Amino acid sequence: MIPTKVYKPEITNCPLCGAKLKYRYTVSDKKIQFSHGEITRIKNLGYSCSNMDCTHPEYIYVSHTARKMCFKGYTYSSKILLEIIHYKQLHKSRDAIADMLASVGVEISDRNVDIIYEKLNPFFTMDYKKNIEVNYEMMERECDGIFLSIDSIHLDDGYRFFSIRNFFTSDTIGCHIVKNGDYSILDDYLRKDLNIKMIITIRPIFDTFDEIKKRAPENTIFKAFEKI
Ligand SMILES: [Zn+2]
Repeated sequence: MIPTKVYKPEITNCPLCGAKLKYRYTVSDKKIQFSHGEITRIKNLGYSCSNMDCTHPEYIYVSHTARKMCFKGYTYSSKILLEIIHYKQLHKSRDAIADMLASVGVEISDRNVDIIYEKLNPFFTMDYKKNIEVNYEMMERECDGIFLSIDSIHLDDGYRFFSIRNFFTSDTIGCHIVKNGDYSILDDYLRKDLNIKMIITIRPIFDTFDEIKKRAPENTIFKAFEKI
């Protein structure tokens, strides 16, 4: 029996007009394999604003906790995919990476290691500054402010992953693997003079949360991902 976990949006009210959100449909329902080999079925429920006079009653809100567990189109968890990308970037052989994952219960062919790397590595080399400009401008125009989802995952050998997404579309604005303790990449996304209204991110118990908070404007509302 594969356990099922059901996720709802972290917000209960519309970020645009404040009305209650209501359930619409299941946005995704898939099995994800995590980095210790265990498999869980993850359901992500979509909600929308209940106010028909809202500026965007058609927007579907989902759980960013569920979204960040996995990249779109994959059944391996984000952590597994990131390890593949990171070790390939460090020129580890695909056999060594497949062996390393097999040792923790994740079966993957060496050919699949290459395919995943080729498909996902472009996310780490894309023009994120252009994406910031386009997404921030779009959110300012449509939603009267900037709403972000920021994930941070500690990789095992002194590196850290950051992903910054558009809260409304879940589109990736930027993905970065940096040395642990180097937070300078956040300066490109967060500034006191930007109209950042809400950030959904890791829980405040983590040091990285303070680094995000101190760069964001004073009035930014913070919401935490659910504990997985
Ligand atoms: Zn609304």
